[in-house]
Amino acid sequence: MNLKELSSLKLSESNLGSSTGSNWFGSGSKIDSYSPTDDKLIGSVLSTTREEYEKVIQEAERAKAIWRDIPAPKRGEIVRQLGNKLRAEKETLGKLVSYEMGKSYQEGLGEVQEMIDICDFAVGLSRQLYGLTMHSERPGHRMYEQYHPLGIVGIITAFNFPVAVWSWNAALALVCGDVIVWKPSEKTPLCAIACQNIIAEILKENNLPEGISSLVIGDAEVGKWIAEDERIPLVSATGSTRMGKQVAATVAARLGRSLLELGGNNAIIVTPSADLKMTVIGAVFGAVGTAGQRCTSTRRLIIHESIYDKVKESLVEAYKQIKIGDPLDSKNHMGPLIDKAAVQMYLDALKKIKEQGGNILLEGKVLEGEGYESGCYVTPVIAEVENHYDIVQQETFAPILYLIKYSGDVNNAIALQNDVKQGLSSAIMTTNLREAELFLSHNGSDCGIANVNIGTSGAEIGGAFGGEKETGGGRESGSDAWKVYMRRQTNTINYTTNLPLAQGIQFNL
Ligand code: NAD
Repeated sequence: MNLKELSSLKLSESNLGSSTGSNWFGSGSKIDSYSPTDDKLIGSVLSTTREEYEKVIQEAERAKAIWRDIPAPKRGEIVRQLGNKLRAEKETLGKLVSYEMGKSYQEGLGEVQEMIDICDFAVGLSRQLYGLTMHSERPGHRMYEQYHPLGIVGIITAFNFPVAVWSWNAALALVCGDVIVWKPSEKTPLCAIACQNIIAEILKENNLPEGISSLVIGDAEVGKWIAEDERIPLVSATGSTRMGKQVAATVAARLGRSLLELGGNNAIIVTPSADLKMTVIGAVFGAVGTAGQRCTSTRRLIIHESIYDKVKESLVEAYKQIKIGDPLDSKNHMGPLIDKAAVQMYLDALKKIKEQGGNILLEGKVLEGEGYESGCYVTPVIAEVENHYDIVQQETFAPILYLIKYSGDVNNAIALQNDVKQGLSSAIMTTNLREAELFLSHNGSDCGIANVNIGTSGAEIGGAFGGEKETGGGRESGSDAWKVYMRRQTNTINYTTNLPLAQGIQFNL
């Protein structure tokens, strides 16, 4: 990234405090953002202090009264402008995502495209926040339901999708009439500032207060302020299951609402009738895309014994072609892990795989030498394991793909795929209609996402996104996920001169 490109996002290369043009506040401790691609300092950000947090929430409280008064389709117009500005900034923001987070430039662009897509979706949605009408059991009565804005929505996000997850929440919450307060990952603050500057400009152009969309920067501590804050009726939290359990408990203790998008342990079942070419491409993209740091990354391949060796050999061959290096260079398939702590987790996992009886087919190592100076580039690993190993039961956020053999019919594979604590994404590769339908049935996959003949990652925004069990149960993005951002009200209207009671209860005075 050069300074000219960064400046279009209103970032300068150092000390990004409260002087970036928009009025988010920061004068607390300094967070240095280094690129995992080349270990260079991109910028330093001052985090939000407790006092500044208070100021942000007060601004949000003021803004919420203004925003909810604006008709939903007019709110949609603001989101339309956001989508357009993102279109104009797609390449620059995509590059920043790639540089600060380390995913390939193509995936960085894809992330911004997802933001544009959800804005388009939300614009349409702004005219479709429908409630039902019901027939009353009482004569001369009418019943219907309406959805009203909740107020302030807190958004806590993870490092691996530093801009898209915010937009999934932001675009829906905004058309629903909520104002938003975002706490991004402390590992990718610059992406967040870029987004804030983009939306702040739109709010300013429309004479709207910036309190409609605020940013607070810091570590878990700032996330805890949001979780504890009774002024925030909904907390949307994306990240590890460990974080989700803490946020859920804190929000539940004040009877708030939480929307949790947590870890996955996603599998592809490969049946005897699978198209092997599609299987290999789907599995490799799913396992090494974003260097295995997607919540939907493919972690387990559950392969029928009759084709096991063939699939294994094809995968090993495919992995040998993977080019690792600077994610901004389009010839590379895989960039670095986010930081050295992530590299250590990867190395620890490799040790555990061996200790627990796994057979590593493609050894993992940290790459050194020219182009790899950051120390965050690792090689993708394939290991033969059994599903019950403790390490296989956990989500390791790295490019490690486990091969698991199954025998007998597809029910055995489904049982293995469901036998983990997480329940985010799943897939089956089959040309057998019965197997596909069983996998999608109530006796099939227990995940929030279940795909046939595509991999586990790369969801479209039109569907509701999220998962079961330790993935947290939340749903974001498309379908009717918007309902969680609103409060439902049932209205009964009596247009007669009588007052009959429900259930036929008699009460005479
Ligand atoms: P993380 O849990 O370390 O951090 C996520 C966010 O939570 C950060 O902003 C962090 O500061 C904040 N946080 C941490 N502890 C907190 C606490 N106790 N209270 C409040 N906030 C707290 O996760 P990460 O390493 O940034 O991201 C990787 C994880 O996110 C993986 O497990 C991945 O599967 C998951 N993820 C899930 C989805 C999904 O949609 N299901 C999407 C992206 C990432």
